[in-house]
Amino acid sequence: MTMLKIRNLHANIDGKPVLKGLDLDIKAGEVHAIMGPNGSGKSTLSKIIAGHPDYEVTEGTIEYDINFKPSNLLALEPEDRAREGVFLAFQYPTEIPGVSNFTFLRAAFNSICKHQGVGELDDEQFRQLVLKRAKLIELDPSFLERNVNEGFSGGEKKRNEILQMALLSPRLAVLDETDSGLDIDSLKVVAQGVNQLRSPDNAMLMITHYQRLLNYIVPDVVHVLIDGKIVTSGGKELAEKLESQGYDWLTRTVH
Ligand code: ADP
Ligand code: MG
Repeated sequence: MTMLKIRNLHANIDGKPVLKGLDLDIKAGEVHAIMGPNGSGKSTLSKIIAGHPDYEVTEGTIEYDINFKPSNLLALEPEDRAREGVFLAFQYPTEIPGVSNFTFLRAAFNSICKHQGVGELDDEQFRQLVLKRAKLIELDPSFLERNVNEGFSGGEKKRNEILQMALLSPRLAVLDETDSGLDIDSLKVVAQGVNQLRSPDNAMLMITHYQRLLNYIVPDVVHVLIDGKIVTSGGKELAEKLESQGYDWLTRTVH
């Protein structure tokens, strides 16, 4: 089953074209990686999938499977995409002063339960669930009482994003440079958390500038995004080639 199907996607930010005809197919159960130089449009793609309002799609389509039916993702509001299981872990997670992590997670979790017509958990049940998930990524329980991402280190913010993901069980998770700012131990913990969430019913899109993360979360398909387009795709050996040879050999053929 195809989870995500992107065709000829063109998008602008501030009137400037960033995506220039991008195609991508992701099936349920698959993990795809997108690699590419800085500024090639990787974060732009992730934000467009999540529905960020600053990005203008000028051409192309994105279909997302909802109840075994390809649906027009671009027609859905960002919050409806989230309720339908689209999740984005941001490259630069936002701080939300005055809102505790626990309150935030609970609101997001309940909103999805309501949408899916399953019963919400009471305070204590939810706390137990969060604690279990936090343990999975070795995040100290004290983080639940702190304001969302406020004063968190880079690595703590990234772990917190994975905690959200572990709680919300998305069908399509997009992880934008989850590896940046992580030391090697944190990277392993985060990767382990992500690997445990892999299932035949969901799909993941990992965006990364470096190959390092892909040693721990082994992708089914690797794509290279350069100047707003996917210029080549392959297996995990493509990531290894990029690690040793950089992007030069690809940019030369593009320009
Ligand atoms: P990547 O994630 O691959 O490094 P981005 O998608 O963040 O690349 O950026 C692609 C291009 O769009 C870059 O040239 C960047 O400067 C530009 N861009 C991204 N966000 C904005 C913004 N909010 N305003 C203006 N330009 C932006
Ligand atoms: Mg980026």
